[in-house]
Amino acid sequence: MIKTEIFRYPGLLSKPKTIKINHSKLLFMAEEQLKEEDFEHQPCPLCHEKTLILTERETEVPYFGKVYMFSMTCNNCRYHKADVEATDQKEPVKYEFEISSEDDMKVRVVKSAEATVKLPHIATISPGPAAQGYVTNIEGILNRVKHQIDAAKEMEEDEEDKKKAKNLLKKLLNITWGKEKQKIIIEDPSGNSAIISDKAVKSHFKVKSADK
Ligand SMILES: [Zn+2]
Repeated sequence: MIKTEIFRYPGLLSKPKTIKINHSKLLFMAEEQLKEEDFEHQPCPLCHEKTLILTERETEVPYFGKVYMFSMTCNNCRYHKADVEATDQKEPVKYEFEISSEDDMKVRVVKSAEATVKLPHIATISPGPAAQGYVTNIEGILNRVKHQIDAAKEMEEDEEDKKKAKNLLKKLLNITWGKEKQKIIIEDPSGNSAIISDKAVKSHFKVKSADK
């Protein structure tokens, strides 16, 4: 069996590229088959102990293409980083989508660590060193936002802010049930993100005018 080659490690998964997949191996794989490989006892970029587990996986996302998923978890310091990378689609990209039904919960979303996800009037998921990349669906995005607001609500002392958080949670629930419409915008300068639906409007993302 041909071994997957790793180089320029340790380091974060963002540029420069840290991992190379041996493409010749893919020829032997059935199309729908997932490939998963673990590399244990890797040096951790944070605590420098050899307690990091590196996992790489490859999956095919319909209408998007092949996606490499990487994740690193340190058993010592709990450092965790995950990200996704598409084989093609390298242009900065912006997707807009209106969530309007329960069916929309199943719409696939690829979100890289460099993406900004905006749910206007609710929340924004920002990129940064702690940001994670993943393949999910609209429901998965809404759930992540819900957990964050939930956690913030628990910590909040101010009654007024507690109430605001409560109302946002109610709104999110209504969106999940298709009772309320909600716009979602994903901007990704790396081009590694997508909302996969005929209803999604894809455009070129102008990196300089990032925030309007
Ligand atoms: Zn560590």
